[in-house]
Amino acid sequence: MEATQPEQQPASDPFRAALAMDPAGVQERTITVVARCLDRKLSEVQLASTLWDDLDAESLDMLDIVYSLERSFVIRLPRLNLIQRATDLFGESTIVEGSTVTAKGLAVLKASMPEVPESFFQPNMKLHEFRKAVSVKSLVRVVERCLGANAALRCKVCQGEPRQVPDFPMEICCAQCGATMELPSGEDIVISDLLRVGAELGIPPVAVASKAAATETSGT
Ligand SMILES: [Zn+2]
Repeated sequence: MEATQPEQQPASDPFRAALAMDPAGVQERTITVVARCLDRKLSEVQLASTLWDDLDAESLDMLDIVYSLERSFVIRLPRLNLIQRATDLFGESTIVEGSTVTAKGLAVLKASMPEVPESFFQPNMKLHEFRKAVSVKSLVRVVERCLGANAALRCKVCQGEPRQVPDFPMEICCAQCGATMELPSGEDIVISDLLRVGAELGIPPVAVASKAAATETSGT
């Protein structure tokens, strides 16, 4: 058989490298990023550590973590929190009542965050309590989800696989024909997952999620 020309790829392509990581590698790297952003020792950060309570993260730290994870894995993470997005999709009164999460809201959150112990989702949970559920494991779940979307990405022109554009850490193009490709949006991923959860729970969306709704918040 005639040897075919190997695909011309840069020796190191962080986009492809992230896709090749196994779950343990993704966990380890997420923990490393969180520890670095919070100025903690690696041994202080566990998968089960909650960000706001156990690790005393503040809003700015969270931005730093999200940004660093995006760079590290070459992914686009969602910006809005799950309750805000669920409220947009299913209607405010379906998800919250005053400052309390409704029963339907709890069901949506529970189904969307399988890594959180069930006992966390108590009836009459207050809105502000929700963020206490977010752990390093939650970050790993979202990172894995975004990596899965990256892995499924194919060139619209030739169905080729994506690779990173050298010197542009957050840009990808087709490895075969060079066409520009776009990283899947974390917002779109959250919306499609929430719609699936809603369908499973019999909670219909109030409005069809549009690309416009997704981009209004992800333009930062
Ligand atoms: Zn292509």
